[in-house]
Amino acid sequence: MTGKIKGLKCRECGRAYPADPIHVCEMCFGPLEVDYNYDAIKQVLSRETIQNGPPSLWRFIDLLPVEGRATVGLDAGYTPLVHAKNLGAHLGLDELYIKNDTVNHPTLSFKDRVVAVALTRAREMGFETVACASTGNLANAVAAQAAQAGMRCFVFIPANLESGKVLGNLIYRPTVVEVEGNYDDVNRLCSEIAAKYPWAFVNVNIRPYYAEGSKSLAFETAEQLGWKAPDQVVIPIASGSLLTKIWKGLNELHQLGLIDPVTTKLHGAQAEGCSPVATAFKRGVDFFKPVKPNTIAKSLAIGNPADGYYAIKATHESTGSMDFVSDDEIVDSIKLLAQTEGIFAETAGGVTIGVLKKLVKNGLIKKGDVTVAYVTGNGLKTQEAVEEFVGRPLRILPKLQSFEEGVPHAN
Ligand SMILES: *Cc1c(COP(=O)(O)O)cnc(C)c1O
Repeated sequence: MTGKIKGLKCRECGRAYPADPIHVCEMCFGPLEVDYNYDAIKQVLSRETIQNGPPSLWRFIDLLPVEGRATVGLDAGYTPLVHAKNLGAHLGLDELYIKNDTVNHPTLSFKDRVVAVALTRAREMGFETVACASTGNLANAVAAQAAQAGMRCFVFIPANLESGKVLGNLIYRPTVVEVEGNYDDVNRLCSEIAAKYPWAFVNVNIRPYYAEGSKSLAFETAEQLGWKAPDQVVIPIASGSLLTKIWKGLNELHQLGLIDPVTTKLHGAQAEGCSPVATAFKRGVDFFKPVKPNTIAKSLAIGNPADGYYAIKATHESTGSMDFVSDDEIVDSIKLLAQTEGIFAETAGGVTIGVLKKLVKNGLIKKGDVTVAYVTGNGLKTQEAVEEFVGRPLRILPKLQSFEEGVPHAN
C-alpha cells in the first residue's frame, strides 16, 4: 500500500524527517525511527489479508517500511514455531516454543529478515551499493541477498570471526573487509565510510528501515500462536535492536486490533563476557557501561550496543528481566537444545537457552506460561564453539566382527 509511511521521527525529541537514508536527529542526535500512518494501515490490514499473503515475512508487508512490493529476500521469515515438548519437559514447562530461525532463508539466521527489508528499501531509494558492519550473520545475509539482487556489496567484519561465517561471506563474492579490531571498531569505521560514500549501509544510514524487519519475529509468533502474544519471551541481545522491535511489533498488532492487549514479559539474554546491557539492568540503572567483549558468542559481541538503552526501557515496560550466562553454560545449552529438540543452534542460541534455564530456576517463568525462546542462528556456522565438547565417532573396519567388538550395542 502507498501512504503508510509518514516519515522518520526522532525517538528522543519527536522531530519529524522525510523517509530518507538518514538515521540521526540533527537537533538532539537521537536515533530516528519509521513513523507509520496506522489509521491507513488499519483500513487495509486484517488477519485474513495476512493469512492470504506469501509464506515469508512479506505477509506482513503492510507493517514494514517499504513503499512498493518486495524485491529482495523473498523467502526470508515464516520459520517454524516449534512446540518444544522434550526441552519443556526437561525444564518443567508445558508450553515452551522455539522460534526456529536456524532455518531462515537464505543464510540460516534471523538477519535474513532485517536484510530483506533493508535491501528492498535500499533498492527503492535508488542505491546500487550495499554494505554493513557485522558480527558475522549480518554480513552473510547482506552478501547472499546482494548477490541475488545484483547489487555491489562490501561487508566489514572483525578479524576474529568463526571460519564458517567468513566462508559464508566469501562464497557470494562481495568485497570482504576484515578489520583488525572488535565489532565496535568496525562500526565506528563504517560510520565514517557511510558519511563519505553513497552506499546503503544497512545498519548505519538505513538502520531505521533495517531494524523494522525484526518486528516480523513478533508478528509471526503471534500468528503462529493463534493470534495471541506469548506470556514470556527470551531474546538474545547484541545491539538490542531485536528486543526493542519484538516489543514494538507485539504492541502494533494490538494497536491494529489483531490481538488482545500485550502482557508479554521480555527477558533479555547476553553472554557473561559481553553483557553491558544485562549488567546495567540487573544493577537497576538505565545506562550501561561499554565493555571489551570476550566470549564465544561472537554474534552477540557488541561492547557498546546502539539500542542498549532502549532495550532496557522496553524490558522495564514489560516488567521483564535480563540475565547472562557463561561460555560453559552456552556450550551446555547448545547441546541440550540439540539433544532434546534436534535443533543445532549457534552460540547466540546457547545464550538464549542458558538464560531460559536460569529464568525457570529463579521462578520467573512458570510451568503453564506460554514461553517463546528466540533461537536466532545456525550451529553449523559456529562449529569451533562446540567441537571439543561433542566427542569423536567410533572407528571400525568394514567387518561385522569389528562392529561387534568396537561398537557397544544391545543384543
Ligand atoms: C545479530 C544477532 C542477534 C541480535 O541482534 P540485535 O538486534 O543487534 O540485538 C541475535 N542473534 C543472532 C544470531 C544475531 O546474529
